Amino acid sequence: MHTHTQVTGVGPGWVEATSNGGNLRMEAVVTLWAAGVQASPLGKLLGAPLDQRGCVLVDGRLNPPGQPEVFVLGDLAHLEQDGRLIPGVAQPAMQMGDHVAKMIAADLAGKPRPPFRYFDKGDMATIGRMDAVAKVEWPFHAHMSGFLAWISWLTVHIFFLIGFRNRVAVFSAWVWTYFTFTRGARLITGDQRLPGWQDQLDAGPAAHAVRPSDAVSQK
Ligand SMILES: Cc1cc2nc3c(=O)[nH]c(=O)nc-3n(C[C@H](O)[C@H](O)[C@H](O)COP(=O)(O)OP(=O)(O)OC[C@H]3O[C@@H](n4cnc5c(N)ncnc54)[C@H](O)[C@@H]3O)c2cc1C
Repeated sequence: MHTHTQVTGVGPGWVEATSNGGNLRMEAVVTLWAAGVQASPLGKLLGAPLDQRGCVLVDGRLNPPGQPEVFVLGDLAHLEQDGRLIPGVAQPAMQMGDHVAKMIAADLAGKPRPPFRYFDKGDMATIGRMDAVAKVEWPFHAHMSGFLAWISWLTVHIFFLIGFRNRVAVFSAWVWTYFTFTRGARLITGDQRLPGWQDQLDAGPAAHAVRPSDAVSQK
């Protein structure tokens, strides 16, 4: 475990970092990145102020400063409410979408645009088979965990999908993966070989000293 360390480069079989002014190079057959994501580069095109992640700073009507003809919403929007950043999850994105539709309707009716206010209904996360945690803020306040939270998580996620066909398709896929123990959605892009493996195989048996388990413990 390395703290106060910033990753400066990742390549096939290695990770480089700076730590206390010094450089660090770690061999790693498998590299898992969990440091967040950058916003879509689309935000830069607006020429509006961005935050560190590339999200566009917007006002209470979801406009970048001085650009009332442009709406930025969802993950690409940086909006603070009551001193806290509205999180980049589905719930605010959906509410912002509804709100932008209302503002466009207000424009067409010649009425002032209502300001956006995020209504936090709570957070849920599934943490295993038949297991989840939930902090419900609406329509009642509750903290739940275990099977009840898991059933609530399933219900909420299916309910908010758009269209009956999508709901049936996702529900059937989940039932299938649940009973067959198969994995759900997988997104594998780019080169699908494990970085570093081929180099080691090419280098011969001596190079096999770095096994996956070693690489994990080195990290
Ligand atoms: C792995 C993962 C797990 C997540 N799990 C959860 C979860 O459990 N619960 C939750 O609430 N949220 C979750 N989120 C976050 C949630 O997916 C997002 O907050 C939500 O999808 C944001 O909606 P959006 O419409 O702003 O962006 P998106 O859903 O990302 O939609 C943006 C769309 O714009 C398109 N696009 C991008 N650039 C261009 C361009 N130049 N031209 C045209 N189209 C373009 C993209 O292809 C995409 O379709 C998760 C996100 C990830 C990555």
